[in-house]
Amino acid sequence: MKITQNNINELAWEKMDNLLPCVVQHAISGKVLMLGYMNTDAIVKTLETKQVTFFSRSKLRLWTKGETSGNVLSLSSISADCDKDALLVLALPKGPTCHTGAQTCWFESENPDMAFLADLEALLAERKYADPDSSYTASLYAKGIKRIAQKVGEEGVETALAATVMDKDELKNESADLLYHLTVLLQACDLSLQDVLNVLKERHSQ
Ligand code: AMP
Ligand code: ZN
Ligand code: ZN
Ligand code: ZN
Repeated sequence: MKITQNNINELAWEKMDNLLPCVVQHAISGKVLMLGYMNTDAIVKTLETKQVTFFSRSKLRLWTKGETSGNVLSLSSISADCDKDALLVLALPKGPTCHTGAQTCWFESENPDMAFLADLEALLAERKYADPDSSYTASLYAKGIKRIAQKVGEEGVETALAATVMDKDELKNESADLLYHLTVLLQACDLSLQDVLNVLKERHSQ
């Protein structure tokens, strides 16, 4: 159930002493960022300000994540689980979410593989500002969009050829080349994999 100002009282407040556990998940990568607790006021404030706000059990007051560090969580959505006693927030973090400086409070656990693609894209985006002599990606950006587009064309053909002769190892390798160069090309055009996913999602919903 998606939570709005109108259905907050449908949550199972009585079950948990007016405080519900809330898992925060990165809205794009799906990484689990942190766990907090919300009361009614925390949900209302989160919905109104679009900055994720908890009830802090140590401070005994509303606590907007990032209120001192600036590392706020920008709200995408709040939803409740099957029996309405646990919350899931999707958010986009501005800066590290964990007070240790890590991206997530579970920084020792392994990433889901699809989240790796989001990490790789973030790294490739940073390379736009790197010295072209220091990295292959930075040197690609320096050569310009036409050259990167040409690389995507080449890797696309190589991928197709590998599939045609059913060389699976080659197909995996060329697909990796293609995915990498496509990500760089999108970045060079100020687009992201998310923009492409949005198109796929839009088509899927029709
Ligand atoms: P912040 O809300 O980021 O300004 O951090 C303020 C304080 O909240 C920190 O000093 C920590 O005590 C606590 N804190 C910050 N982030 C987390 C987190 N992800 N999980 C638990 N406590 C946190
Ligand atoms: Zn439940
Ligand atoms: Zn933490
Ligand atoms: Zn190739």
